[in-house]
Amino acid sequence: MTVDSIEKGIVIDHIKAGKSMEIYQALNLDELDCSVAIIKNVKSNKMGFKDIIKISDTIDLNLDVLGYIDPNITVNIIEDGRRIEKKRLELPEKVVNVAHCKNPRCITSIEQELDHVFRLADRERGIYRCIYCDQKPGKEQ
Ligand SMILES: [Zn+2]
Repeated sequence: MTVDSIEKGIVIDHIKAGKSMEIYQALNLDELDCSVAIIKNVKSNKMGFKDIIKISDTIDLNLDVLGYIDPNITVNIIEDGRRIEKKRLELPEKVVNVAHCKNPRCITSIEQELDHVFRLADRERGIYRCIYCDQKPGKEQ
């Protein structure tokens, strides 16, 4: 796989510079067998600098996870060296086991096997709250 172009796969574009590793981990890209290229600090007219992730296979990406991290990211599906689809992301209504509730009194702290579920409480400001205790998520760093 060359860095500039791929024949087939997925290009995750317009990632805020420095965020690519967080996305790599959140999407479990380390578990893939295909090639994954992380290109950091690419010059962008719109953003100054951005990161790009290229995956040499069309896998099922969890778009909710991406939208939760940054809804401005774009996902391009490439086939035969051409972009056949551009997916726009938005903040998902809820995320399951992406963020974790840090409230020690929350039921998710007591019942370890419970899913951590956050619901979008304020779309305008992108604020999520735990469905059990209303706490905002402590984002994993
Ligand atoms: Zn909670």
